[in-house]
Amino acid sequence: MARGTDRDRFGISSRGGGKAGMAEALTPDICVVGGGPGGIAAALAAAAEGVPVVLVERAGMGGSDLASGTIPSKALVAAAGIYEALRLGPVFGVTAAPLQVNLGKVREHIEAVTGEVSAGVSAGRLTALGVTVIAGEARFRDRRTLSAGERLVRPRRVILAVGSQPSIPAVPGLDTVEYMTPADGGFDLSRKPAHLIILGADRHALELAQAHNRLGIDTTVVAEGPALADDDPELAALVVDRLRAEGIRVRLNVRITSVARRKGGIRFLVTGTDERDANAAGGEIAVDGSHLLVVAGRRPNVDDLGLAAAGIQYDGSGIAVDRQLRTTNRRVYAIGDAVAGPASAGRAEYQAGRAVNSILYRWPFPDDPGAVPAVAFTDPGLASVGLSEGEARRRHGDVRTLRFPFVENDRALIERLPAGAIKVVADRRGRILGAAIVGRDAAELIVPWSLAVANRLPLSAMAALVTPHPTRSGIARRVAALPEAGLTPGWRRRIIELLRKFG
Ligand SMILES: Cc1cc2nc3c(=O)[nH]c(=O)nc-3n(C[C@H](O)[C@H](O)[C@H](O)COP(=O)(O)OP(=O)(O)OC[C@H]3O[C@@H](n4cnc5c(N)ncnc54)[C@H](O)[C@@H]3O)c2cc1C
Repeated sequence: MARGTDRDRFGISSRGGGKAGMAEALTPDICVVGGGPGGIAAALAAAAEGVPVVLVERAGMGGSDLASGTIPSKALVAAAGIYEALRLGPVFGVTAAPLQVNLGKVREHIEAVTGEVSAGVSAGRLTALGVTVIAGEARFRDRRTLSAGERLVRPRRVILAVGSQPSIPAVPGLDTVEYMTPADGGFDLSRKPAHLIILGADRHALELAQAHNRLGIDTTVVAEGPALADDDPELAALVVDRLRAEGIRVRLNVRITSVARRKGGIRFLVTGTDERDANAAGGEIAVDGSHLLVVAGRRPNVDDLGLAAAGIQYDGSGIAVDRQLRTTNRRVYAIGDAVAGPASAGRAEYQAGRAVNSILYRWPFPDDPGAVPAVAFTDPGLASVGLSEGEARRRHGDVRTLRFPFVENDRALIERLPAGAIKVVADRRGRILGAAIVGRDAAELIVPWSLAVANRLPLSAMAALVTPHPTRSGIARRVAALPEAGLTPGWRRRIIELLRKFG
């Protein structure tokens, strides 16, 4: 498709004023700030509708997701998964040569993957799809105007998709030791750490802990809270048990009294309630490691945006938005990690669609936090969508909770990996409110439940699902058809009883 110049497309205006070289403002319908998954999804959605859209990115396209988030971490997890599959070979009668890990090659693999993914989100590709990409930093000059690198932009609407960066917890002594975060060297495997301490126990922290440990790096997890705090504790416990069984020291709910340098590395002193560690019950114990990776949450990138000039409120958890993702400046929306909530590229992309629709159709497309599946790509994985059991009870009172274990699934037995289960919550009428799965391929298996929650489907729809055999996906039908699901109410039983009388 032939594309016009910026002047043709935006009717370049001289509104906005400013310093020399910035006099002419671009006036697109939408200006997206940030080229991570949220910003790219928003810009592409607007361009697909034929709406003039500018995207401003100050660093690399793909955002922190590509540089230090999903893509490199999942590439590392994939390498660790290959190791684990080979390690299990003898159980299946297949033996490879002695297993070895070449961390330099693992790093090359991660770089190759990020390179391939980045090609799909390059500025050139976005331009070809109708997005005007500006390389530079965006900053509000007033409520309606932004500077973007050397340009001025005065759009009808703005979508802030500025993402987040690692937050560093206030731990005594942390500032006296060297540490990495995923954003600065977290995936640099050029030198093998003798013993890696990971500070934090959220989904991303545990994925990285398991992957490093599987690749031969002794790993300890230290956290002041529980593991996988956002997940169903019953299912999260299975993941933690597995990490411990694989040899990772997982110290949860401890109080870190100090972190200090010691010869050859770092020492944490902790006290606490870790139920697995008798010594921790009262006194202080030392947790020693050679390297430290901090994966302890995120903080929004709000510092250099000039938000005050635009009348946009924010705090340490993110930019304040209403249910339609609109900020305190009605022309400006915010999505993704810049807004309080779980850090997830999937969430950023979902919110991008909601915000663009609200803007284009001048109609509310509210954000629904429960619609986005949350996943820990550990092994077993843990995926959930919709309401947890606790949340469902709080909101709906009496609910039905159904569980089905993978140990009764033929595919899981064939693969010799039967650990895990599915848990589903439905209201009294059988409408599916939420589902959580712990087990291999949990992230893939949650998909039909995502559809069910989004479309308020009943358990009977899932019980009628036809799945190939033998697959793990068959567990969806099995759990929905459990007697406790109440799919055969009394009146249907009475009809069956009556019809039996006819022979
Ligand atoms: C180790 C790790 C593993 C993860 N794994 C997963 C996973 O498996 N699945 C998942 O869904 N999520 C995962 N995440 C989370 C995911 O990476 C983030 O939620 C996602 O990147 C958020 O997307 P975003 O578009 O909101 O922001 P970002 O990806 O952070 O992009 C924001 C962009 O805005 C730009 N920017 C900021 N300010 C300005 C400005 N003033 N002007 C111009 N540009 C600006 C930045 O340079 C950046 O490129 C992981 C994160 C980490 C750290």
